Amino acid sequence: MPPLRHSRSEPELLRGSLFTLRRRCGTPTCRCAAGQVHTSPALAYPQGGRTKTLTLSEEEASQVAAALARYAAAKAELDARAAAGLDTLLARVADRRRRS
Ligand SMILES: [Zn+2]
Repeated sequence: MPPLRHSRSEPELLRGSLFTLRRRCGTPTCRCAAGQVHTSPALAYPQGGRTKTLTLSEEEASQVAAALARYAAAKAELDARAAAGLDTLLARVADRRRRS
């Protein structure tokens, strides 16, 4: 059984996307050389204007999925509040123009 991780080691929020990395290891006698490539979960994430890739364990992948979902939810809420803010501003400007 793996040791319990401290919650500080788990990311709260992440940007990017999870995907399955498929690769050959380079060993000529490995099954991957015959076409059965190795697969592992991976995160594609933006950093410094580039997209980088980080391979993950299955446990890390589930934590990453949760952090990506939290980011998406937070972003959706922020976008909705920004849209409401724009509606408020547009109504205010329209009202001012009607009065003048
Ligand atoms: Zn291999």
